[in-house]
Amino acid sequence: MRALALIATGLAAFVAMEGISYATHRWVMHGAGMRWHRSHHAPSTTRLEANDVFPVVFSVFGIALFAAASALDNVPLFWAAGGVTLYGAVYLFVHDIYIHHRLPVEVDDRRYLIWVRDSHRIHHTLGGEPYGMLFPVVSAARRSRAAEIEARREERLSSSLDTRSRL
Ligand SMILES: [Zn+2]
Ligand SMILES: [Zn+2]
Repeated sequence: MRALALIATGLAAFVAMEGISYATHRWVMHGAGMRWHRSHHAPSTTRLEANDVFPVVFSVFGIALFAAASALDNVPLFWAAGGVTLYGAVYLFVHDIYIHHRLPVEVDDRRYLIWVRDSHRIHHTLGGEPYGMLFPVVSAARRSRAAEIEARREERLSSSLDTRSRL
């Protein structure tokens, strides 16, 4: 297989992973897996969340793909496994490091990152869409509803801080 076709295979696997991650988040993590995922939607009190079991489980699939690629001596499958793994790494960087600040790493704001962060915040504020991570699709109506709620929350927080500072 030519190099370009192999790179295209890896890229296709990367793009397909956004769909798989959407479906998994929506129907598995917010379905039967909610007992683990709930910890991610609750205010966190510990460094690790029960939700962290998910990436461990997902990495088993990635490892299995690499193992299958090497057992079958299948080069395109190897590149597909690479695309899947790269998606996992980018997801970790965007979601856990940039959005939720789970590691003491400073990441500069970029237009794309801000868009993804603001979109993911809507999932946390309202529940429901967007379940996607790297290409979140949210209606304008949901965006403004979430913005209203967040603004009210912010107001309540600053007024309670005001009251406290006057005491
Ligand atoms: Zn969720
Ligand atoms: Zn999150």
